[in-house]
Amino acid sequence: MSLKIYNSLSQQLEDFVPIKKDHVTMYSCGPTVYDYFHIGNARTFLVSDIIRRYLEYKGYRVRLVQNLTDIDDKIIHRANEQGVDAAQLAQQYIDGYFADSEELGIRPADVHPCATDHITEIIDLIRNLIQKGYAYESEGDIYYRVTRFEGYGKLSNRNLEDLLAGARVEINHRKEDPRDFDLWKAVKPDEPWWDSPWGKGRPGWHIECSAMAIKHLGETIDIHAGGQDLQFPHHENEIAQSEAVTGKPFARYWVHTAFLQVNGGRMGKSEGNFIFIRDALKEYTPETIRHFLLSAHYRHPLNYNQHSLAESRSAVRRLQNCISRIQQYSPPDVDPRLVTSTQSKAELIRENNQLVDSTLTETVDQMRTSFESAMDDDFNTASAMGAVYTLVGQVNRRLQHSNQVERPTEVELGQAYQALATTCQILGIYNHDKSVAGDDLLVEPLMNLILELRQSARQRKDWETADQIRNQLAELSIELKDSKSGTTWQQQ
Ligand SMILES: [Zn+2]
Repeated sequence: MSLKIYNSLSQQLEDFVPIKKDHVTMYSCGPTVYDYFHIGNARTFLVSDIIRRYLEYKGYRVRLVQNLTDIDDKIIHRANEQGVDAAQLAQQYIDGYFADSEELGIRPADVHPCATDHITEIIDLIRNLIQKGYAYESEGDIYYRVTRFEGYGKLSNRNLEDLLAGARVEINHRKEDPRDFDLWKAVKPDEPWWDSPWGKGRPGWHIECSAMAIKHLGETIDIHAGGQDLQFPHHENEIAQSEAVTGKPFARYWVHTAFLQVNGGRMGKSEGNFIFIRDALKEYTPETIRHFLLSAHYRHPLNYNQHSLAESRSAVRRLQNCISRIQQYSPPDVDPRLVTSTQSKAELIRENNQLVDSTLTETVDQMRTSFESAMDDDFNTASAMGAVYTLVGQVNRRLQHSNQVERPTEVELGQAYQALATTCQILGIYNHDKSVAGDDLLVEPLMNLILELRQSARQRKDWETADQIRNQLAELSIELKDSKSGTTWQQQ
């Protein structure tokens, strides 16, 4: 099956065909560095990371560019508030961005251009837009003439009439039309500035991305990614600016990540539920957070709450336990080509009429196929993880058998290991260095035993023993949760 991507521009699932065979150019809108990034931003950045990793897995050479917006109203406002230099504040959060994304396992892009390093390119682009009649100067500001660009609104599916109603709220006498947006802002007191043909000033946000994308990836890029909140006006304006200058499509596939909610509601400073990724990482491992962020398809909303995170934590633990158990039984470097007895083993199992209805080799093949079909279907990570955990369940079941026929061979375990390692590397939900080793492998079965003993105490109404088990586990920072479907445990 070939890779299909949902293109926000056409609002359809399309076959992915890059401009240049085997090469992909990708631009992802990066952070505006006036603060640390939050869990919602993390989802967007992670989606770009996963798309890149999966394209590489499929054999493409990917060039990913992610910009850093290091000059912006928010940066200037925050810097003035704190009485520091805007550039200094931006640098602090650029460092913070790299530290946090590294901890979350997000690979750096090939290029992370900063807007302030591209003032010349930005000015050239604006000059070009003015020459072509798409932009005009007004009292040192430069505005984009929205009605001049025929396709304006095509990405966000808006028409110019609707936009007029929305834009009338803001009154700016310098604009010819309320829908026009700024490309260059004339200097104001206490603001950083650069020289330009129109006097001192600084670039608008939208033009930065057009200039950096064209410079580092060319006039047409394959994939442009970003959060859903950027679709309008930011991405709409990027298209208007870039296509007006080049006369070519700016991006072939537009990928937008949906919003992340916190406890079922909007996340925001005013709501008091703002979660920076660096705070979340104090509570959960990077693998747990990645597992959670990938547990829904990127175009669907996702809800951050303790329950979902606890589920992800236990799923990651199950995966790490499984891989560690495989390593205990079999060296991980088994060459998968050494499969010789698949057929005979399958026959043996059928002859013995055991509960297992396929060999592990067959399960591994099925898992790879399901994983790839899920990822080929517009990067459906939720379903791809489902395939991974089906294999985890099967490996665990098979390793419990003492019967020689049902026990997986070293070759089968080697194949399972390689399949899990490869797919989990794409998802980033398994960390080899943090794998569970030695005695930790006993935790899961021992906890199951304890929970069973407590359950039988409860059944015979021996509340004293049941409570004693709960309290003593609490002293070990293990919390029990009773529900209708049974008891679960969680390490604090
Ligand atoms: Zn952008």
